[in-house]
Amino acid sequence: MPKAAFGDGREVLIEAESEDDLQVRVSIEGGETWSGSDSAAGLSPKERTQRIKELVRLGIHRALQASYDLAPSPWGTLTGVRPTKLVHSLYDSGCDWTEIAAALDAHYAVSPEKAELLIDVAKRQRRFFHQTPNDPISIYVGIPFCPTRCSYCSFAAYPLTSHGHLLKRFLSALLLEIRAVGDLIRELGLHVESVYLGGGTPTTVTGSDLEELLQLISRHLLTADTREYTVEAGRPETLSKETLKILKEAGVQRISINPQTMHDQTLQTIGREHSVEDVHRAFALARQAEIPVINMDIILGLPRERLGHVEHTLQEIKKLKPDNLTVHSLALKRASRLKNSLDEAHIAHAQGEAMVNLARDAAQSMGMEPYYLYRQRHIFGGLENIGYAREGCASVYNVQMMEERQTIVALGGGGMTKLVSPDLRLVRLANPKCPATYSQQVEASLAEKLDQIRRHFLG
Ligand code: SF4
Repeated sequence: MPKAAFGDGREVLIEAESEDDLQVRVSIEGGETWSGSDSAAGLSPKERTQRIKELVRLGIHRALQASYDLAPSPWGTLTGVRPTKLVHSLYDSGCDWTEIAAALDAHYAVSPEKAELLIDVAKRQRRFFHQTPNDPISIYVGIPFCPTRCSYCSFAAYPLTSHGHLLKRFLSALLLEIRAVGDLIRELGLHVESVYLGGGTPTTVTGSDLEELLQLISRHLLTADTREYTVEAGRPETLSKETLKILKEAGVQRISINPQTMHDQTLQTIGREHSVEDVHRAFALARQAEIPVINMDIILGLPRERLGHVEHTLQEIKKLKPDNLTVHSLALKRASRLKNSLDEAHIAHAQGEAMVNLARDAAQSMGMEPYYLYRQRHIFGGLENIGYAREGCASVYNVQMMEERQTIVALGGGGMTKLVSPDLRLVRLANPKCPATYSQQVEASLAEKLDQIRRHFLG
């Protein structure tokens, strides 16, 4: 990039050589020069290119940091959504944990704290890995409806108020897909490790519709070895005694009740039309219904929330004693309405790391450890999202979905099937997000989707 310019018009010169050794030099005009090298011994041409790219990234990072006197970013040059995948791939290539920590520092400029977190999470995840990605598999069912749309939402979530008339037809199409995938599971003799209903908020479906849906899932998608069955009930106002009874009777073992914050004013600002009181009520009902595992999600960096707000939210959550706590850092994706009004968000960037540490300490005080982690583009403070769980309560689905080492067959609105090969290559098959499009297309597209899945398993 001989002509690349940054801000004040300084040029960046990058020189890379790939002979016996790999050598990279990055110079900022009027600023610092960084040089690095690595051995190319035993590397394939593809691995050489990869390693050169890593050195270039590191060089730019270091040279810019030194030239502009920038504070080091704790994640260094790692920009991907799933940093733990890198750790697992280093481990699979024969590195031990000490060598992985050293590589995270030397190759990617990751801070010692984040390296320790990554390794801690990766170690905990490895007990969930299987010999092959295709036995067992997991199932995802997407229900893309919510009571209203939260202002930060970028998921497949259609408000019932405006799209409720599409629900019946959507459910009919989904029941068709459940039966067809169930037939394929039996035909191929697949074992299903976990089933996860997400969306959206699946508990917007109620009464006999919910009963019929869960009965069909139990009959067609669960197998004798299914060890986890989760239903997202993220919006507490959707949880009634009756709904919880239906979930419990269907054998659901894990639900999410997501406060996001324990401040009514923030809840209003972000368009979640429920109150803190609703969270307490839903949580008490779920405990009474004896749902074994309850997860709660919170978000750091919400509009006008500072450290004190997060502290209060965590104190309230500690009183409830959930089994899992998922700590998100606000990500302002393209589809989110908040992104269009950044002023309104008033994000407290400087306090981000302190909020993350508060959440970590609260999780630890509830006996929880981090077990999955991911990052997003445009994430608050350049931070991360972390799932914490008490011993024995970690969600196997969350680990498999995040690490992409297991085939996940996805049904319903916005479901993304991921067919994983033994060498961990992925083929993705997307269902339409829009419930109307899904309902129209499911019958016509199902045969082709099932055929692709069948070909994947039969090789
Ligand atoms: S509850 Fe979740 S899926 Fe539904 S609108 Fe809010 S953020 Fe989106």
